[in-house]
Amino acid sequence: MRAAELLKWFESGEYQKIIDKHTGDIESLELTCLKCGLKLSGTETFCGNCGAKISGR
Ligand SMILES: [Zn+2]
Repeated sequence: MRAAELLKWFESGEYQKIIDKHTGDIESLELTCLKCGLKLSGTETFCGNCGAKISGR
């Protein structure tokens, strides 16, 4: 792939879509208690529902 084509692809938004998708997956995983499934704000150290330790980033 030539640089111009790569740039075109990048500017088309496809690249950002892929990044957004992956970031979303990671975020949703981190923002959910793995033990009880409680949605978290991302600042908790322990789950407010079951008390499980939330693994930090
Ligand atoms: Zn929990």
